[in-house]
Amino acid sequence: MTVQRIHNFNAGPAALPLSVLEKIQASFLDFNGSGMSITEISHRSSYFDAVINDAIDRAKTLLKLDDNYHVLFVQGGASLQFAMIPMNFLGQNDTADYINTGTWSTKAIKEAQMQKKSIQVPASSEDNNFSYIPQNIQCNPAARYVHITSNNTIKGTQFATFPQTNGVPLVADMSSDIFSRPLPMEKFGLIYAGAQKNLGPSGTCMVIIRKDFMETANDNLPSMLSYATYAAKNSMYNTPPCFGIYTIGLVLQWIQQTFGSLEKMAEHNTKKAGILYDLIDTSDFYQATAQKDSRSLMNVTFRLPSEELEKQFVAGAAQKGLGGLKGHRSVGGCRASIYNAATMENMAALTEFMASFEKENG
Ligand SMILES: *Cc1c(COP(=O)(O)O)cnc(C)c1O
Repeated sequence: MTVQRIHNFNAGPAALPLSVLEKIQASFLDFNGSGMSITEISHRSSYFDAVINDAIDRAKTLLKLDDNYHVLFVQGGASLQFAMIPMNFLGQNDTADYINTGTWSTKAIKEAQMQKKSIQVPASSEDNNFSYIPQNIQCNPAARYVHITSNNTIKGTQFATFPQTNGVPLVADMSSDIFSRPLPMEKFGLIYAGAQKNLGPSGTCMVIIRKDFMETANDNLPSMLSYATYAAKNSMYNTPPCFGIYTIGLVLQWIQQTFGSLEKMAEHNTKKAGILYDLIDTSDFYQATAQKDSRSLMNVTFRLPSEELEKQFVAGAAQKGLGGLKGHRSVGGCRASIYNAATMENMAALTEFMASFEKENG
């Protein structure tokens, strides 16, 4: 059977490396000689212990983490983290800073406010339709944490460097750029990422917490909403999202085997995004929506001269086997999501289509 796969630019759930999918397929009926599928194996078995510990080890190796960090897997997506973070870290007399750079930050802020937590927003790019990343942010030195969205999936902006916080731990939603580049981990108390952009299937959120930060968490919470529960039980207090964790491990292995390091992964991503931004910048037809110094290497957002042309562009691309190029329904326009798994072949197909579409319609 020949399988027809498209050039997949979906924002999330998004493309996974083909070799990872093939590996899953090949071992799906008989995982490691168990005679069972990974979806049928007990999470209390040695088979699954090896799977989860392998994923954790690979995450730690890639990010160069020592034993001062927990790597946890939590269900409920990044959206549950919006609620869990203030729940765990903001007591009655605590306050946190939230930097507002788009739709997801706004949701994170809302979840903290809903719980009547004290938070401030020291910087926001809402005044210009979230088209940029604020600079020279003055954070409150008494804040418990400073929350950022490292990559704004919908608006197409990304923190190229991280804010100066005078030692206040950063808490970052990295759903759409985790493992896309090396990180100055000493700045972070917690990072989290819903898996379905850059890591694996939906249903799992990876949460990396510095141990000393976690020890300051509120310990008076329902078990499933407390980070301490996950840390104490290696994310297996209840049945974890086994298939998701397994796939994440394979994706991290793929990064290690294909690129070797996050430095090399970042080089690859910079090159990919550069190809697209170069085409957009040298054209009067395509218009980037994010300001130049704030552009995302993961989600390239752009407009065409009219909404009608944008419609034709998305439809014409789909006919040529290029999918997922429609912008988020809240902002319109076009968006190419080019996470780690996007290949040079994907980029070549896209730029070729964009050039020919401009020639025909420009
Ligand atoms: C997709 C996304 C989310 C939402 O993730 P869910 O897993 O659906 O809750 C949150 N933040 C960012 C930056 C995202 O890209």
